[in-house]
Amino acid sequence: MAISLLSDANVRLERALKYVRISEDASERLKFPKASLKVSIPVRMDNGSLRVFEGYRVRYDDTRGPTKGGIRFHPGVTMDEVQSLAFWMTFKCAALDLPLGGAKGGITLNPKELSKFELERLSRGYIDAIADFIGPDTDIPAPDVYTNPMIMGWMMDQYSIIHRKLCPAVITGKPLGMGGSQGRDAATGTGAFYVLEAMMQRFSKPPQEMTVAVQGFGNAGSAIARHLFNAGYRVVAVSDSQGGVYCKTGLDIPSVQQFKASTRSVKAVYCEGTVCNIVNDHETITNEELLTLDVDILIPAALENQITEKNAEDVKARFIFEVANGPVTSAGDRILEQKGVYVFPDILVNAGGVTVSYFEWVQNRSGLYWSEAEVNQRLKGKIVSEARKIWQISQELAIPLRTAAYVHALERLEEAHSARGTRDYYVS
Ligand code: GLU
Repeated sequence: MAISLLSDANVRLERALKYVRISEDASERLKFPKASLKVSIPVRMDNGSLRVFEGYRVRYDDTRGPTKGGIRFHPGVTMDEVQSLAFWMTFKCAALDLPLGGAKGGITLNPKELSKFELERLSRGYIDAIADFIGPDTDIPAPDVYTNPMIMGWMMDQYSIIHRKLCPAVITGKPLGMGGSQGRDAATGTGAFYVLEAMMQRFSKPPQEMTVAVQGFGNAGSAIARHLFNAGYRVVAVSDSQGGVYCKTGLDIPSVQQFKASTRSVKAVYCEGTVCNIVNDHETITNEELLTLDVDILIPAALENQITEKNAEDVKARFIFEVANGPVTSAGDRILEQKGVYVFPDILVNAGGVTVSYFEWVQNRSGLYWSEAEVNQRLKGKIVSEARKIWQISQELAIPLRTAAYVHALERLEEAHSARGTRDYYVS
C-alpha cells in the first residue's frame, strides 16, 4: 500500500509532541490543513484542442502569519502530496522564525510535454482559478519542483491583471526585472551549504577528505554541488531524473553544470571554454545506486520518499543533508537512527529558499532592494543560528535532529496558538 504522505508527516509531529509542552488545542489543530482547494484549469493547446488540468492549493496553518510555499508542476502531484508539503512548510517557516505560515500548490502534469506558450496559458489559468485563495497578506506562492522565475513572473502578472494594479508581493521567486530578489534563485542550495558548513565544523575532517553524492541536479542540487566543489569537497556523484554518474576522484562541477545547461543531461565531463570532453574514469549509475554509495555525505535533492525501509539499511553515508522535501520516510528514519547516521532535516536544510522568498516579500512591500551580498549575509546569519539551536536541542534531549527541528518549530507554533487563547485560558 502506498504510504499516505500526510499521515507519515504526522508521525514526525507525534514524535516531537512528546518533548514539548503544548496545548491540546494547538496539537489538535496542527494535524489538519486550514483550507484545501482543488481546481480544474482548462487550457487551449497549440493544436487547437482543449485540455483540462487538475490543480491544488493548500493553506495549512496561518497562526504565525500569511501562508507561504511553492507551486510544483509534476505528474505525481496529488492532494495528499500538496497537503503534506504544506504541513512541512508550516514547520519550516516556524523553525526559521519567519513570520509566515505554511502552504503549497501544484498542478498534475509533465511540464516537459508542454510548449512554452501552453505553459504560460496554464500558469495564468491556475492563477485565474486560485486568485481568491492567495494574496500578499494571506498566501504567497513561490517556485518548487519544475517551476521557475519565468512562471512566477507570468503568475504575478496575471494576479496583477485581475486586481488592476501591480502586486509584486503576491508571489516570490520572480525574475529580477519583475521585483525578484538577488540571490533567490540559488537560495535553497546556498542556505543548505551554510548549514552543512556550520555543522561539519563539529566533525574534525577537512572538506578535501570528504566525499559527497548529490541526488538531483536541478536548481537546489546543482547549487549546493557547486558550493561544495568551490569549498574543496570531493563531489563524486550526481544524478538527474534520467540517472547519474560516479567518478571516484571527484567531478568538475562547473563543467557538469555547463554541460547540463546546454544538453539537459548529466555527464562526467571536463570543459575548457565551450568544448566539453567526457572524462575516462567514471561509471554511470542509477538514482537508487547513488543513494547507497560509499560516501561521507549524501544529499538527496530530488523528490520525496527516496530513502525508505527498503534501502535505508544499505545507506553508507554518515551524514545526510535533506535538500529535497521529505526524501526520507519515517520508517527510513528509524533505521538510519539505529545506524547512527546524522540526518539533517529538510525543514532546516532547504529553508534557504523560503527565507530569501521572505526577504523578497519584505523588499517588495518596502520598495527598498538589497544587494546579493546583503541577502546572503542575512540568510547565513539566520539559517546558521537556527541550525545551532536545533543541534543544541538534539544534544540536550538526546533526540534525532529531525525531532529537534520539530520541537524547535512547535515551541514557536505553540506560542502563537496559545496567544489567541486555548482551553486552559477559558476553563481555569
Ligand atoms: N518551494 C520551496 C520550499 O519548499 C520554497 C517556498 C517559498 O519560497 O515560499 O521551501
